Amino acid sequence: MPGGPVRFTLDDGETLRLSEDDLLRVYEELWRLAPKPGSVSTAAVVHAARRQTDLYHAPIDLTATQSAMLREAVALLHVDDLKEAEVTKIPAFHTSEEETPAVYHNNDECSEGKKIEPEHKVSGSGTDRRLCEVCAGLG
Ligand SMILES: [Zn+2]
Repeated sequence: MPGGPVRFTLDDGETLRLSEDDLLRVYEELWRLAPKPGSVSTAAVVHAARRQTDLYHAPIDLTATQSAMLREAVALLHVDDLKEAEVTKIPAFHTSEEETPAVYHNNDECSEGKKIEPEHKVSGSGTDRRLCEVCAGLG
C-alpha cells in the first residue's frame, strides 16, 4: 500500500491525520458540499495530497476556510470526531534488543521507536521499562 496517513495542520494548530481510505471519502464528501465556499479548493488540496505520495510525511497547512471545510467533511463522514481521527498513541511496544536505558514507546511518530526493526519489535511496555522521552514529548 503506497504512502501512509496524510497529516493536515488546521488553522488552530491542530493536526488531523487521515488514512488513504478516509482521504478518498473526505474528497467525495467535499464535492457534495460544493456550493459552499472553500469546499472546492479544499477538495483540490485533498486530491493533491492523495497524488503526492512522496510528500505524505510533510503536514499540509490549511487556511481557516479549508480547515472549516475539512472539519465539516470529516464530521459528515462520521469518520470519528477529530480527536479520534488524530490518533497518534498506539499500543506500547519496545525492542527485544538490549538497550540502556530500557524504554518503551507508545507513539507511532516516535523517531526512536521507528528505529526498531520489525523482527525486534515486541508489544507491551515490558518489565522495568519507562516511557521513552521522545514519546513523552509527543504527548
Ligand atoms: Zn518513543
